[in-house]
Formats: sequence, C-alpha cells, structure tokens
Amino acid sequence: MAFESLSDKLQGVFKKLKGKGVLTEADINEAMREVKLALLEADVNFKVVKDFVSSVKEKSLGSDVLESLTPGQQVIKIVNDELVTLMGGANSKLTYSPRGFTIFLMVGLQGTGKTTTCGKLANYLKKNGKKPMLCACDIYRPAAIDQLEVVGKSVDVPVFTMRECREPEIIAEKAVKEAEMKGYDVLIVDTAGRLQIDEALMDELVRVKKAIKPHEILLVVDAMTGQDAVNAAAGFDEKLGIDGVIMTKLDGDARGGAALSVKQVTGKPIKFIGLGEKFDALEPFHPERMASRILGMGDMLSLIEKAQENFDESKAEELEKKIKKNEFSLDDFLEQMGQIKKMGGIAKILDMIPGVNSTAMKNVDLDESQKEFAQMEAIILSMTKAERKDPSLLNASRRKRIAAGSGQPVSKINTLIKRYDEARKMMKQFTNASGGKKKRMFRG
Ligand code: GDP
Repeated sequence: MAFESLSDKLQGVFKKLKGKGVLTEADINEAMREVKLALLEADVNFKVVKDFVSSVKEKSLGSDVLESLTPGQQVIKIVNDELVTLMGGANSKLTYSPRGFTIFLMVGLQGTGKTTTCGKLANYLKKNGKKPMLCACDIYRPAAIDQLEVVGKSVDVPVFTMRECREPEIIAEKAVKEAEMKGYDVLIVDTAGRLQIDEALMDELVRVKKAIKPHEILLVVDAMTGQDAVNAAAGFDEKLGIDGVIMTKLDGDARGGAALSVKQVTGKPIKFIGLGEKFDALEPFHPERMASRILGMGDMLSLIEKAQENFDESKAEELEKKIKKNEFSLDDFLEQMGQIKKMGGIAKILDMIPGVNSTAMKNVDLDESQKEFAQMEAIILSMTKAERKDPSLLNASRRKRIAAGSGQPVSKINTLIKRYDEARKMMKQFTNASGGKKKRMFRG
C-alpha cells in the first residue's frame, strides 16, 4: 500500500517529539529536517516539500504551540492539517449536470489505466444509482475499442462504438445523442492515449471537448510513475484544462509522492484513487482519511480535539492548588469523572485510539464501566457536603447511611473511597515531580 515507508518515518519523528515534555526551537528544526527527508524519499515534489515544511515550522514555532500542554501532539496536529490541505482539503465530488445528463471525458497517457478506470467509474456510478453508458473514442487502436467492450460487459454497461469513423469528436457527439435518447444519465467517454503528451493528441482532445462540452474532464494518472504523473497532470491541465485527477495503482506504489504533489502543483484535486485491477477497486479520495492513514493515527485527532474542547485551563490550575493543599475532595473526584463522561465515556475514548479495534480490547465490558460511573456518582451525591470535602469523616455508620441512600452495598462505598485515595496520591506525586510547574502534569 502507498505511503508505507513515509508513514513509518513520520511516526518515528513524532514518537520522539511526543517523548519530550517541552519542545524547543531546535527540537522542531530537527523534526522538520527529518520530515523533509521522509517526504523527499517518498518522491514528493521538491517545491511542495519546501513549502510544506516551512509552513509546518512556522505554525509549530508559535507560542501557542510551544507553551501548550501537549506541544508534541500539537505539532502532529499541524502536520496532519497541512497534509490534508496539501491533498486538497475536503473530498472533491464529481460535478453532475443540473439538466440531468452528465458527460465525463476521460483522458490520460497510455498504460495509466484509463480504460480500466472507465469501467470502474461506470461500476461506481451504477452502484450510486446512475445509469451510465460508455463511449470508445480511440480511433488508432481497434484493440482499445475491443478492450472497452470487454470492460463494458464486465460491469454490465453498454458501450457506444463507431469503428469506421476517424473523427473522435463525431463519435463523441453521436454517443451523447444516443445516450440521451436511450435514457442514460451519464456518458463516460474513453479517449486515445499516447506514450507522452503531444500536440496531435491535445488538438484531438480539445476538439472533442468543444464538441461535447463535458461536465468534467478527468485525467487518469499512474501513481507508480511518481513525478511523471504530476508532470502529466500539469501538461494536460495547461493544454486542455482538467477538472480532477483519478490516480490509479496506488495499491502498487509504496511511496505515494504523486498523490501528495498533484493538487499543490496543478491546483486540481484527486477525485478518485484506484487500488487494484478489479472493477470495484475505485474509491473516492478523502484527504483527511489519507492523512490519518499516513500518520497512523486512527481517529486520534478527534480525541485530541475533544480533549482540547473539554480542557479548562483555569480549572486545571485550581485542581492542582487543591491537590497541593491536600484539598482534593470527592466533589473534585466526581468532576474528573464527569470530564471523562463529557468526552463520550470510556467506550468512545477507546474507540478513537488507534489499534484498539483488536478483539482483546473489544472484550472489555464497556457497558459495565459506564454503569460503574453512574454508581460512583450516586454514592458521592448521597454524601453530605462536609463528607465530600473531608472523606476521613466517613466512619462505619456514615457509610451505612450512604449505602442506604445510594442503593449500593457498603462494599462499593469502601471501594470508591479506596480509588479516590489512590487517585489523590497519584496526582500528588505528579504535582511534586513537576517541581510546581503545572503544565507538565498533563504533558504527553
Ligand atoms: P490504458 O492504456 O490507460 O487504457 O490502461 P489500461 O486500462 O489498459 O490498464 C493498464 C494496466 O493497469 C492493466 O493491466 C490494468 O489492470 C492495470 N490497472 C489499472 N488500474 C489499476 C489499479 O488501480 N491498480 C492496479 N494494480 N492495476 C491497475
């Protein structure tokens, strides 16, 4: 799969960053040097790498990052966001005609997978409720027409051909008429390819474009050709104007540099990726998902965002003061549990951590842990204010009263007090170890 080695390298860089409680400018510079090398080795366009690294560096050196509670994670988040932007931001959807009949013109160099992709796209559209028709416009290679017919049969989509005609724009026009007349709502036009961009091919494509005014011109490029794919995209866009790119063979490309460069170099987004030879191996391209995949993060970002949303700095300060003065009460303990609940509970948190999908973790009884929270809450709320503030007041008779009030056995109350004691001790250790510096306590 694409990005394997890039992914490994970036994760190595971030592991080092996360291991540090405090980040200096030198740490960031070193990390960015490694990020740069990793991207270059993945065959990302040199200029794209330069811009990317300088943008990440500038954002990472901001005081809001360096002085934040989790600077390492902030840098990872910046890299992630920049990767998403680099690949085009949100998923770029196909544009359909408002009139109801849409034409997609497929262009690309020979061997990139254009004909196969026509079939994959037809298959994809069919699954999404469309009624597509294919059109063969390669006037040079009869075998190319045969191939599209085979593809059409495989995905059960009709193919329009005019084997004797030498003018692709006429074939395309006739196909449009026929498709509309027969009630199809999408026409996918396959065109001739060349080994490289040449004037004759471009003239021909421009003529087809003028004749049928496609709603989208989709360029098929082969990820395995790396920067050649990016150059092809730039060339086609300059001479013909393209709306989007379909990048094939990402399944066989271990580096992924083309996928990371195309948008930045050409301004045109990748709309789909091809991940195999079969007709269902086509996926809409989602930059956010690809970035998460490259960074090996699962949905860790949502988790960081959630933690940030729920983290209240002034409350954290107050809490630390209390811990130091030995004033961490059962009310505070309850509030801490409330924070976890606010983040969606243990089940949600576990779900967002990469790797937790394993069967072992799924066996954790999540309902049970939610239930436990509710019981703890009931117990604490059954105590008097004074008891919550000073749990040492809780003698046997008070515990019995609380048990009756909360509907829990006394043993549960004992367990809760024990947990609270442990939490208090642990937090005190943290604050002492940090030498009075609040922020380190939470640093990852
Ligand atoms: P064209 O000359 O551009 O029309 O290319 P073809 O459609 O004939 O495809 C060339 C080769 O690439 C064929 O063997 C396809 O099966 C293969 N191919 C196309 N797309 C993909 C893909 O996404 N992944 C892999 N592994 N092979 C692909």
